[in-house]
Amino acid sequence: MHKTIPLIPAMQCIGVANFLGAPGAGPERGPEALRSAGLVAALRRNGLQAQWLRTLTPPAGERMQALYQLLLEVAAAGEGVVQAGAKPIFVGGDHTQAAGAWRGVGRALGIAPGLIWIDAHLDAHVPATSPSGNPHGMPLAALLGYGDPALTGIPGPALDPHRVAVVGGRSFEAAEAQFLADLGVRVLGTADIDSHGLHAVFTEARRIAEGDGHGFGISFDIDALDPREAPAVSTPAPAGLPAEALREALRGCLREPRCVGLEVVEYCPGRDPQGRTARLVIDLVEAAAAPDGAELRRWEDEYGARNYAPLPVVLQSGSGCWLKDVDGRRYLDLMAAYSAASFGHSHPRLVAALGAQAGRLAVTSRAFSNDRLPLLLRRLTELTGHDRALPINTGLEAVETALKAARKWAHKVKGVPDGQAEIIACTGNFHGRSIAITGLSSEPQYRDGFGPFPTGTRSVPYGDAAALEAAITPHTAAFLVEPIQGEAGIIVPPAGYLAACAEICRRHRVLFIADEVQTGLGRTGRLLACQHEGVRPDGIILGKALGGGMLPVSAFLADNEVMQVFSPGDHGSTFGGNALAAAVALEALDILEEEDLVNRTAELGDHLLASLQTIARESPLVREVRGRGLFAGIELNPQVDAHQLALALLERGVLTRETHGTVLRLAPPLVISREELDWGLERIAETLAARGRPPPQAA
Ligand code: PMP
Repeated sequence: MHKTIPLIPAMQCIGVANFLGAPGAGPERGPEALRSAGLVAALRRNGLQAQWLRTLTPPAGERMQALYQLLLEVAAAGEGVVQAGAKPIFVGGDHTQAAGAWRGVGRALGIAPGLIWIDAHLDAHVPATSPSGNPHGMPLAALLGYGDPALTGIPGPALDPHRVAVVGGRSFEAAEAQFLADLGVRVLGTADIDSHGLHAVFTEARRIAEGDGHGFGISFDIDALDPREAPAVSTPAPAGLPAEALREALRGCLREPRCVGLEVVEYCPGRDPQGRTARLVIDLVEAAAAPDGAELRRWEDEYGARNYAPLPVVLQSGSGCWLKDVDGRRYLDLMAAYSAASFGHSHPRLVAALGAQAGRLAVTSRAFSNDRLPLLLRRLTELTGHDRALPINTGLEAVETALKAARKWAHKVKGVPDGQAEIIACTGNFHGRSIAITGLSSEPQYRDGFGPFPTGTRSVPYGDAAALEAAITPHTAAFLVEPIQGEAGIIVPPAGYLAACAEICRRHRVLFIADEVQTGLGRTGRLLACQHEGVRPDGIILGKALGGGMLPVSAFLADNEVMQVFSPGDHGSTFGGNALAAAVALEALDILEEEDLVNRTAELGDHLLASLQTIARESPLVREVRGRGLFAGIELNPQVDAHQLALALLERGVLTRETHGTVLRLAPPLVISREELDWGLERIAETLAARGRPPPQAA
């Protein structure tokens, strides 16, 4: 049986292809243009029921007479939608339509709605004060009951001036301002926004429009926006509301029971050949339709498998080391998606590379060659000095690839009987979540209930080279190791361990395979973490950062002796090596080099570890600090709950996560600045200090 998912509430879009307010300006094609640019889809993907009801067009005839007829229709359409229990979204057309829209809504409600009028103009002219005589400067006055009967005569209650707030007015005549002031309409203009911020201004506008608990509408003339962001607006007066702030102010309002409808007007497609303004307008409507953080978390919990327990923050955007949640709070990212976001969020070069390639060619499968992958393969082999690379998607797939290569190498090259090759892994390892890889894990929870696992694996204690040597048999194909164990809690092995293991492997003809999914590509202050001990592995696994924080891109690298065991058809993946992934990975590798991120990370990493040592000395809660480069762990004393600490850091605007209950992981984007890092370190020190105080004495 299908589960019924509540879709709340219903939205009905009414297009008003109106140009009569100022003939020649060109907004009459606005409704259909916004519709085909995806306005309804934007509402629907936010879980709202939405449809395009109809598009009204002005009748022929004398201008004011035609306008009057059109406004009657607009009012009737709006009334019908509200009576049916839905919310109207009036899509203009020019702003004169408002004189019908909100009268119709008022008729259905039995009382005039409050109104937030977002506009560069005040639209509060009456014919006597209007310099142009154009009715598009008059709808607000008409809704309040003043002006030409063609506009004021639409049946329905006039607005209560004390429940009207104008936001963003910056281009108007003194007579309009005086008229509104005399009536008691609040105008919250540029000065108010500059001194209090748009969020506070919008909150005030809502307070006014809601009055003592009644419904309110929002009438949004897009010329309130900054013309630099919205090039198609018809009033290119300077300043204007910044879209980002408006997006936050509008966020979720359509879902609120007290919001009875929305109006968006004055979009002129003729001035928007690139569609940039249309995208912006749809983005704003989408924000108005968007669920808040609490609701999104409820949906994730209700409709998703519960295989994760995320911290209570719902992120919506990011730039560099900073992330923003749906409620507008900013956080410093000290996790970088477990190294996947090593280049920070929305790196402009990666965004551009992704967009450009997505618009050209993305996925064709490897049934054919594409013009990006060969460049990436060449680049990867130049970078690591290995003969060949095998591109694949996620980290675990690259690990599986390495294990398959090792087994086949053992059989074909080393002479181990087929089906008897052995892999040695370390206790505390983390290589991914497939059944085969889970079989290598020593963590009971990762294995519990998922057996049976493939045979042919052995486990040795991490950091103990002698144990590796003792475990090797003639059937051993490979030793798989993380140069620093990440998930286990940033465990740095004893100095010389990797070099000793590599030497043991060479002596016994066992492949030394380094899982550098997390430690590779600069994370530890060297291109590969194995390079700290001068080790050149037989196989290298790269992932995470290789995808530039945009896509899963990973690779297994090895020399001919190993990689040539694969023949066509032996191994692959539909998405592995696709042109989009290759283009993004190439750009990521260029950034790594051109921004000198490896050397930067070595320097910043020394600073990070030295600072953490200082914090550790001062806090009784910290047991030990470990790490290398921008890859560090703070081991807490066992009585400290690391999860609670991660929550406390979240409160202070720092994102990090605990591992195994006792370690806080720190792996910021490699592009972090020293100042940003210090800001984060100060928050950590503060948080530890606040928790480290002795409990208050009982009275
Ligand atoms: N190897 C290591 C060392 C990892 O840290 C991870 C992921 N944390 C993986 C492999 C698996 O990568 P993915 O999640 O992309 O499959």
